[in-house]
Amino acid sequence: MTDSTADGVERRLPTDEARELLSLVRDIARREIAPRAAEEEATGRFPRELFALLSRSGLLGLPYDPEHGGGGQPYEVYLQALEELAAARLTVGLGVSVHTLACHALAGFGTDDQRAAHLPAMLGGGLLGAYCLSEPSAGSDAAALRTRAVRDGGDWVVDGTKAWITHGGIADFYTVMARTGGSGARGITAFLVPGDAPGLGAAPPERKMGMKGSPTAQLHFDGVRIADDRRLGGEGQGFAIALDALDSGRLGIAACAVGLAQAALDEAVAYARERRQFGRPIADFQGLRFLLADMATRIEAGRALYLEAARLRDEGRPFGRRAAMAKLFCTDAAMQVTTDAVQVLGGYGYTADFPVERYLREAKMLQIVEGTNQIQRVVIARHLVGPESR
Ligand SMILES: Cc1cc2nc3c(=O)[nH]c(=O)nc-3n(C[C@H](O)[C@H](O)[C@H](O)COP(=O)(O)OP(=O)(O)OC[C@H]3O[C@@H](n4cnc5c(N)ncnc54)[C@H](O)[C@@H]3O)c2cc1C
Repeated sequence: MTDSTADGVERRLPTDEARELLSLVRDIARREIAPRAAEEEATGRFPRELFALLSRSGLLGLPYDPEHGGGGQPYEVYLQALEELAAARLTVGLGVSVHTLACHALAGFGTDDQRAAHLPAMLGGGLLGAYCLSEPSAGSDAAALRTRAVRDGGDWVVDGTKAWITHGGIADFYTVMARTGGSGARGITAFLVPGDAPGLGAAPPERKMGMKGSPTAQLHFDGVRIADDRRLGGEGQGFAIALDALDSGRLGIAACAVGLAQAALDEAVAYARERRQFGRPIADFQGLRFLLADMATRIEAGRALYLEAARLRDEGRPFGRRAAMAKLFCTDAAMQVTTDAVQVLGGYGYTADFPVERYLREAKMLQIVEGTNQIQRVVIARHLVGPESR
């Protein structure tokens, strides 16, 4: 079953329900998200009301179980919806991807009671989530994290600093990895922390190159008290949970990258058709035609790679290696395609009058988040030749 967007992106969707869903997403993207994207990214305004709309429309819990308010959609459908949102505005697509990542620990590793208590509000009740793994001194080496949770009766008391947290300071809940045991990956436990927990504070948002509408901030935990019934999974299981979430989250980043690249290509094609030099549309020049052809090919290859990984995931088969490849390939492709889109627009592409310069700045962050692209290569190589010897 195929479906095409106005710009001709062919989508293979498994059901009629999925086709209707994609059409709803496109409608929201076109009417509600895209029109204010440029202005709000310039002023750094986070569109909280759009996330409320997405939640009301059933689009904040698409791949999760309907029993707890999720959409019950296969990952391949969720990711294609995400691609459309990211094409309209990366702050929104990435925000949905991060929210989905933040729900993963509870949905996958929480108890029935925990799921029943918290998931419905997270998946469709208007709440927005954040995922807290990174710290100022623990980025790629996330297992070196220092935020500590210490038992105190039936509670845990959390102290430390998380860094680079998307939705930091504005989220309603935080999925937090903290150290409860000794050093290394096995001493880490996951917790679900309410956004209004006493002792939890956020620094002012980072001043970033792009994605200015998406707040990224440090979070300070100063004696934050968390009841043990908000511990997700077993003690010491937190790092494994964090990595499991990232395998799926990386597919979200890959889909966002493809959406962003598609938006850049669409701009470049439209401009090349209109702009005339030497008495002809610049789309007549083979130098540009080949550039556009390469851009389109990178996008299709990236889309095929993330969809293949998603379909393996939907079948319950291992998909981690392909997820790392998809994140690596799609985000590198987005960097190249957005750079080329600026080139197609010439001097105008270098101005804020057209969106391609913003797309280029936004693409850069996708090569860094949820494991830099160097770390994706580390992951892929481990699948090929095993762990490094020390
Ligand atoms: C906009 C933005 C949003 C983010 N959102 C979140 C979030 O919501 N939650 C969260 O937990 N984190 C988030 N992050 C953090 C992100 O995941 C980290 O920035 C990333 O993991 C890299 O860590 P680092 O910045 O400390 O860089 P480092 O780990 O210090 O890396 C510096 C450089 O060294 C390279 N490097 C490091 N180790 C190796 C190695 N073994 N082999 C080869 N090269 C290596 C890296 O690839 C990089 O080029 C966000 C970051 C940004 C920029």
